[in-house]
Parts: sequence; C-alpha cells; structure tokens
Amino acid sequence: MSRDAVALLRRLVQTPSESGAEDAAADLLEGTFKDLGWEPRRTGRNLHAVLGSGGPTLLFNSHMDTVPVGAGWTKPPLEAVVEDGRVYGRGANDAKGCLTAMILGAAAAFEDDAPRGTVVVSAVCEEETTNRGMAELLPLLPRPDAAVVGEPTGLAPAVAQKGLLLLEVMAEGRAAHAAWGGGDNAVTKAARDVLALEAVGFDRPHPALGLPSLAVTQIHGGERHNVIPDRCKLVVDIRTTPAYEVSELVAMVQGRVGGAVTVRSSRLGAVDTDPAQPVVRAALAAGAGACFGSPTISDWVALKGIPTVKVGPGDSRRSHTLDEFLTIAELEAGVAYYERLIRAYFGLMGGR
Ligand SMILES: [Zn+2]
Repeated sequence: MSRDAVALLRRLVQTPSESGAEDAAADLLEGTFKDLGWEPRRTGRNLHAVLGSGGPTLLFNSHMDTVPVGAGWTKPPLEAVVEDGRVYGRGANDAKGCLTAMILGAAAAFEDDAPRGTVVVSAVCEEETTNRGMAELLPLLPRPDAAVVGEPTGLAPAVAQKGLLLLEVMAEGRAAHAAWGGGDNAVTKAARDVLALEAVGFDRPHPALGLPSLAVTQIHGGERHNVIPDRCKLVVDIRTTPAYEVSELVAMVQGRVGGAVTVRSSRLGAVDTDPAQPVVRAALAAGAGACFGSPTISDWVALKGIPTVKVGPGDSRRSHTLDEFLTIAELEAGVAYYERLIRAYFGLMGGR
C-alpha cells in the first residue's frame, strides 16, 4: 500500500490543478476510484464515492486544487521529484498528500474487516479560492454525522478554526483645492481611525483559538496631489473565533472609528467542535497528536453544524511555499492514521 501511496501522490502532483482547473486531477482520481472498485460520482469538478452502507456516515474530504506554482523554485514544481525521502511539488503538502492518504486509508479500512457504517470520500475543487466546491457538493451527499477535513496538521486534530471577517471603514470629508485651503481631509480622518483601532481589545479567549486578531491591512485615499481628498477607505482584517458574534465585532470597530463601517465579507465563519464528540475522540485515539486550534481557513467553513476535525499529514507552514514537499514517512503515516481513525470512529459509534 505504501508504494501505491507514493505513486498516487506523484501522479497527482504531476497533474496541475490550480483552482478552477481541476478537471484533469478529477479525471485521474475517477480512474483511481474505479481501480479501487469504488463507484465514482462526478459533479462538475467535484468527485466522491460512497463506501459501505447504513450506520453512521463519516465524510472524508480534501481538496484537489492548489495555489499557482509561482517563481523561484529550486526543484521542478510539477514533476514530483523524490529526493531524500521527500516528494517535492506544488500541492504535495497542501493537500494532495492528505487526499492520497485519505483515499488509501479508507480503501484499507474497507478492504477487509470493513466497519459497519458509511464513509463518503470526496475530492473537491476551489478550496483555495471560494470554498464553493465543498459547499456545492455537501447537499448532494448523504448527510454526514461527522466529517474529517484533510489538511496538513502533522496528524494533530484541529478542533477549531479561526474565521475571517473583512470590514471596510470609509472616512468621508470634503474636497477642496489644496492651494486654497479649506475642505475636510478624509485621509487625516482615516489616519485617526487607524490609530483608534489599535485600542480595540479582546478579552474572551476561545479554549482552542485564544483571542481574535485585528489589523488594518489596506488603505486607499486621495486621487491627486493637489486635491484635499474627500474619501479614504480602510480595510480591516479580523481573524475571528466562535466566542464573538460578527455583529459584536462590527460594533466594536464602529465604536472606535469616525468613518462608516461596512461588512465586505463574513462568509468565512469561525468553527469549532466539542472535544467530547466521537470524531474528535477517534482522531485522538488514532494518533499521538493533541487537539489544537488552527488559524488557517479550510473547507471546514462549508461544514458548519457537522462535528468536524481537520487533520492530516504534513505541515501547514510548508503550504503555498517554494519547494513545497511531503515526506514519504509522513504520507505513509497518514494512510495508516486515516484507517485507524475510521475504525476508531465506527467503534465508538457502536459498530466494529
Ligand atoms: Zn489546503
């Protein structure tokens, strides 16, 4: 099985699948599913298969898409070169290694002594951009009782994930010719708002995620050097936790600034799972890692309300970097881990 894992990961890395262009990767996996004796179901650029029947349903999901290759690699980014026990290439770590391990781990679990229950294995598109793949696939699946999202976490289960709230603050003034004086400078007003936002404090830590963070990340004001600007826009990036409501965070910002606050995006909400949930207990039983809170967004955002853990082989800090890699040892450990997780989950749910 382990040699198969390296071969499958290499073929996946050799199949470019930038977000929005996952067709070839989906074709490849459709063939892999058939080779495993599964019935692949293709919907657009998403793919899934249902293993087993009855009992509780566990969703095993990861994504096929990658961020663009980018420039500056010292290894060929799409050849899946194996060197020093590492498979190099775009997506090797995020998340083609996880996808490979989930597919082969699930295959191993159902190969003999199959658990009593259903595992839905899905490979989705557009995780890195819109999270639309998972959102569109979910209504087409048997309703999962729990879910595992395959992302590189060093096989430690993330039981919470920060969200992203993007706000805009618009400072408004009055335009005038800079030479004549007068007017009301919106850039000056926005500058005061930037400094005022430093005083926003959070005091309700989430048990796994700690406190939210807030940063002004963009500022745009003024069109010409000789015109007192009448508008200046700030973008505020807030990494949220389930301990704060969006409306509460908006009010906290509005309470500090003079400009008008609008929500640009609140789609990527923070999520968490009670550590007493069977899927968390199974994830812990299957490996040595401890529960943690993750700062990065994943397709978990599309699974709100379903007890979920995010766990997989690899290291999140290697994602999206040059010379991205996954070690063969990590990949093999991932396959065995996911098989144990499936068995532990159905064991806890009263199956075998
Ligand atoms: Zn990912």
